[in-house]
Amino acid sequence: MSNGVIVVGAGPVGLALAGELRVGGAEVTVLERLAAPTTESRATTLDARTMELLDQRGLRSLLGTVPREPRGHFGGLPLDLDTQPSPFAGQWKVPQARVEALLGDRARELGADIRREHEVCAVHPTADGVRVEAVAREGRGCGRRVRLTAQYVVGCDGEESTVGALAGFDFPGRDARRELLRCDVRGVHIPDRRFQRLPGGFAVAATREGLTRVMVHEYGRAPAVRTAAPGFDEVAQAWSRVTGEDISAGTPVWVNAFGDVSRQAAHYRQGRVLLAGDAAHRHLPVGGQAINLGLQDAFDLGWKLAAEAAGTAPAGLLDSYHEERHRAGRRAMAIIDAQTLIMLGGPEIEPVRSLFGELLGHRAVRELLARRLGGLDAGITDLPEPAGAPDRTEGVPS
Ligand SMILES: Cc1cc2nc3c(=O)[nH]c(=O)nc-3n(C[C@H](O)[C@H](O)[C@H](O)COP(=O)(O)OP(=O)(O)OC[C@H]3O[C@@H](n4cnc5c(N)ncnc54)[C@H](O)[C@@H]3O)c2cc1C
Repeated sequence: MSNGVIVVGAGPVGLALAGELRVGGAEVTVLERLAAPTTESRATTLDARTMELLDQRGLRSLLGTVPREPRGHFGGLPLDLDTQPSPFAGQWKVPQARVEALLGDRARELGADIRREHEVCAVHPTADGVRVEAVAREGRGCGRRVRLTAQYVVGCDGEESTVGALAGFDFPGRDARRELLRCDVRGVHIPDRRFQRLPGGFAVAATREGLTRVMVHEYGRAPAVRTAAPGFDEVAQAWSRVTGEDISAGTPVWVNAFGDVSRQAAHYRQGRVLLAGDAAHRHLPVGGQAINLGLQDAFDLGWKLAAEAAGTAPAGLLDSYHEERHRAGRRAMAIIDAQTLIMLGGPEIEPVRSLFGELLGHRAVRELLARRLGGLDAGITDLPEPAGAPDRTEGVPS
């Protein structure tokens, strides 16, 4: 392929981008190292702006019935989201796997060429395009080298972005200062708790259909140096120290640790190489903002890059992707950092929490934060209507 766009990564952001590029008429090849989508339970919440974008593309109704939660939180302090200036005010509970399945089906139906078991290992910008090399594996085979060329390549390859590293993107920011241990576990019987601050740490537990998600942080404990996910025993011990409860007899399904790293690509575009989603911004996935920020990157980039690839984009259109989405990412990361401090800070943060609690009593403050959490105040432009676009008037949920 010498025309079109290579998207690296078939996570939610890569799949959304592939669909949007096809809507804009660009040729798209998606390269994904995994043989099948991950079944790990990840994000569970779509925000108002993401729902607006899905609706605009006729995708929202395909999600089926989606429970709406009118209340969110800011750093664990309850926040009414009904004031958001959107027909989709609130948080919408959709498992990430469902979002990925929908976006993957759509990208394929629109003609994207999705190649699994292709791990990108080299990116070489050339005078008029970009050459990408991947190792293609089938089953347990040792893999063969595949070379592709395109006009542009977009790294949607997640937090440890290979594309970002190979293309020399700069990621200013800071490393993690604290970490949150998380697991999904069966067979434990503990009370649900929403953002509970205890003397030694912070704890969350929610049980649905026999599966309990726990999250725990011990105040003042620095993140461990990790090369793999923590063991369940580490989570159970931390849980016991913070809550006094014993969950060690449970059967873990997933165990993860998240650091509160805060790094953002200095530029989302370097010539013919671009980044989107977790590949462009690394932060704690607090309040469901990680997946939403990434999906909104993809919807903003898709039509702009398709126009650029077709040679019909006005001057500066593609660069406006960096300008808009870098600004949106910076603003979101600033409130993620603030929320992390309010949520995971030790006793020293209590005066700030109590002041914040007071400020949240003011309607203007609640409205401002609700807009920001819903992705509604980043000054983003609306998607243009594609030729032959699906009817936008699907009807708005009550
Ligand atoms: C356990 C867990 C829980 C989470 N919980 C939440 C949550 O509650 N709320 C929230 O908002 N977010 C949460 N997140 C974050 C959320 O899942 C991410 O923000 C989201 O997946 C980002 O989408 P993405 O497409 O940018 O990246 P990813 O989903 O990471 O997808 C990147 C893809 O690129 C592929 N890839 C990587 N390198 C290469 C390569 N060299 N060649 C080819 N393919 C490659 C990967 O295999 C992967 O499929 C969670 C994440 C994890 C891991």
